[in-house]
This record gives sequence, structure tokens and C-alpha cells, in this order.
Amino acid sequence: MTKIKNVCVYSSASDFLSDIYYEDAAKLGTLMGKNGFDLVYGGGRLGLMYANAKAVKDAGGKVVGVLPKKLYDMGLSSDVCDEVIVTDEMRSRKEKMDVLSDACIALAGGFGTLEEISEMIVQKQLAYNAKAIVFLNTNGFYDNLMKFFDDIIKENFAQERMSKCVYFANTPEEAIDYLLNYVPEHFDVYEKLKIERPV
Ligand code: AMP
Repeated sequence: MTKIKNVCVYSSASDFLSDIYYEDAAKLGTLMGKNGFDLVYGGGRLGLMYANAKAVKDAGGKVVGVLPKKLYDMGLSSDVCDEVIVTDEMRSRKEKMDVLSDACIALAGGFGTLEEISEMIVQKQLAYNAKAIVFLNTNGFYDNLMKFFDDIIKENFAQERMSKCVYFANTPEEAIDYLLNYVPEHFDVYEKLKIERPV
């Protein structure tokens, strides 16, 4: 079993959500810190991003924020970060967050969160990595997405094995348990995609 240390968390930058989302973000952060995980995230000082990062920090975890220059210059970075990394662009930011982390979790979020976690799923699908990918399904927020993922597989837009590549956790505890027990599945992309190997 490969030990996971650095966890990338994608989450909403909104300050206008129901309390339950902030509570779960903070609970996850506390459990991350207590279980020895460090955080890599978008470095923001707003929304669930901040609630989660602050809780990680308060529970003794290290917090690394990665922001594109534009957001950093707008003063959107958080003071809870032990380290702030400024990238040229949004795309290089995602790459940096990926390189720095062993696993990723999406808390409830909007388009930014969805974009970030989707890229990780596609990378895993094509065997660029075998990292743990978790959605924290606070308040059933991702129920419809879960159904959509099932439809993608049912209609053969993705292989059956993809159902095991993404984990939907109902609680922060479940998310942490998944990371603690995660066994990466390495596979041969040529065999899985049923394409000929180049000679
Ligand atoms: P969204 O789900 O649309 O709120 O976008 C959240 C995701 O996009 C986060 O994981 C961040 O990486 C990035 N992001 C969006 N807004 C901000 C912000 N104000 N500060 C920092 N990162 C942000």
C-alpha cells in the first residue's frame, strides 16, 4: 500500500452556501490534520476552500496554496498557507497541484471544482496516474453526478472499470478511511483500451 501524504482538495470559493457545506469542509480538514495528511489546494481565502484549509492548519497539517498570478494579484490568497506558490496561468496551477499531491478530493463546488476534478479523472482513465479520487457528497450534492457517471458507463462512453476509479464518500470520515486504505490499481492502458501496442 502506498502511503498518501499530500491531498489536493478542490472546493467552492463561495461564501454564500448553507452551513452544512462549511461544517463538512472543516470536519474533513480536521480529520486530514489529525491523520497526518497535508493539504494542497487553490490557496483561496473564500468559501469551503478557506474552511477546509483553516481546519487542516489548526489540526497540525501543512497547507500549500497554489494560485495563478491573476488571482494572487487580486488579493485572493489565504493567510493560513504555510507556502504559497504562484503560477503563470490556471492551467499551470492545476498541473502544479497535481504534481504536488498523492490523492484528490472534491468537496461540493461549482464549475471550477468540477473542471479540476474532471481533469484528474481523465488522467486516471488514461493511466497517467493511479491516484485516489474522492467526491465528498455532502448533503447529497453529488447524487445527480453519481447518476450521470453511471449513465456514462451504462451507455459505454467509459469502461466499467471507471466505476471503481472514483469514490463517492457520504461523510468526511468515509473519505479519510478511503485514503487510509487506498490501494492503487495499475493497469496496462493498451490492453484496457484494446489498442495495439506500438512496436
Ligand atoms: P468554484 O467551484 O467554481 O467555486 O471554483 C473553485 C475552484 O476553482 C477551487 O478549487 C480553486 O482552485 C479555483 N478557484 C475559484 N475561485 C477561486 C478564488 N476566488 N480563489 C482561489 N481559487 C479559486
